[in-house]
Amino acid sequence: MTHNHFIAFHSIPLLAIVLFTTGVFSTSLAQNRISDKTPASISEASVLNIKSVAEQTYGHYEALYEKLHKNPELSGMERETSDALASDLQSIKEIYAKTGSNKTGNNKNLQIETTRGVGGGYGIVTIIKNGSGPVILLRADMDALPIKEETGLPFESTKRVDAKGNRLQGGSDAGTPVMHACGHDVHMTVLLGVLNNLIVNSAAWHGTIVAVFQPSEERNGGSSQMISDGLFTRFPKPSYALCFHTFPDLPAGKVGYIYGPSMAGVRNYTITIYGEGTHGGYPHRGKDPIPAACAAVLDYQTIVSRTIPATKSAVLTVGAFNAGSRPNIVPDSVVLQATTRFFDNATDSTFLKRIHEITFGAAESLGMPENKMPKIVTGNPAPPVINDAKLVGIVKEGMSRTIGANNLVEIDKVMGAEDFARYLQIVPGALFRLGVSPADKPTGELHTSKMKPEFRKTWMTGVEAMTGGVIYLMGALH
Ligand SMILES: [Zn+2]
Ligand SMILES: [Zn+2]
Repeated sequence: MTHNHFIAFHSIPLLAIVLFTTGVFSTSLAQNRISDKTPASISEASVLNIKSVAEQTYGHYEALYEKLHKNPELSGMERETSDALASDLQSIKEIYAKTGSNKTGNNKNLQIETTRGVGGGYGIVTIIKNGSGPVILLRADMDALPIKEETGLPFESTKRVDAKGNRLQGGSDAGTPVMHACGHDVHMTVLLGVLNNLIVNSAAWHGTIVAVFQPSEERNGGSSQMISDGLFTRFPKPSYALCFHTFPDLPAGKVGYIYGPSMAGVRNYTITIYGEGTHGGYPHRGKDPIPAACAAVLDYQTIVSRTIPATKSAVLTVGAFNAGSRPNIVPDSVVLQATTRFFDNATDSTFLKRIHEITFGAAESLGMPENKMPKIVTGNPAPPVINDAKLVGIVKEGMSRTIGANNLVEIDKVMGAEDFARYLQIVPGALFRLGVSPADKPTGELHTSKMKPEFRKTWMTGVEAMTGGVIYLMGALH
């Protein structure tokens, strides 16, 4: 699913770095937008520093990664994860207090402040203020999934939890297994590594970083909670938001980028189609909802093939079809659960309208009365992730300085979803994909028991790429 579009490596005169380390070009936040003629740069010296800090700090973050991986927590229950992140953020701050100003020269005003409990739960926001300049949000998510791990790693998760997320002791099969199968443990340790690197290399940039550690991504509520708890009002408002998501389709060492639509919007449906239960030997005495629901499920598939323009990307999946309990009883109802994926509001509206028409049509053809019409329950849709194309171009250029242009790969959009999209409804931003697979063949898919990142190469690439991308972007915004 990938295509290679390589960008040229330009060597940048050292002089250019001076322009954005002085801070004299800072403007008000609203004006911090990428302009076509802005000369952005990152010095060769900075690139070497970024790589050397990544190398020096790797061992520390590998240990933290293994700890997080072995102790995953489900959505909304990220208590220990939040403690581990907060203590690491505190140690970064202490290291800086001891050594930062000596090591990095003109950054005596660097301020680091961490706020916990954002979003009413375990969310963390760390502000790194390094003089005046643009504000950039960097986000990592924290939660794991109810999957039994089968990677065979020495630090494989064997954790099982009760309904409240408390760890169950002993090797029983009780409770729910938990695994970091979406790579959020990679996201957290990469972001910490980036923050550490930006702090040590703070002479190379000016501005403010808003680092967001967000719980509950998998339940698609975490970003909304962070926003409604004042992420964009209590803290400096960013000009742009960036994040990584792990990507088994790419080998470790590569970063995937995409201009524009990146990940799909989602709306889920629970649909009840009513009938009239009766004895299975005498179906003519009732109204069997099962054939009616089968017809509806088949008809739903014509929404994509016949109603939505073929030039658009859309998916409808009925993932659950539940009815009945015995071979000889016609049930009273069928309950369907479906998910739809789309990249614009018009497609979402078409799904809504056609699902309604087809479902009610099925009930009418069954001869159901007015008071036994179907029930369709759907929540708010999650929006699609639409990357800001200009931002992608700039950040990708900065990333290429540290990881090399041949390690940036243009990829296709995917029909998976990410609640990072909600931030992008407020500020422009971009989601980049971080390759995690061995060089020879892809590791297990996301959300499977065999998802096993090649951690060292993944982490080094993520930290070098994002640190380079952020410093370069800061320069472009001054
Ligand atoms: Zn996931
Ligand atoms: Zn994820």
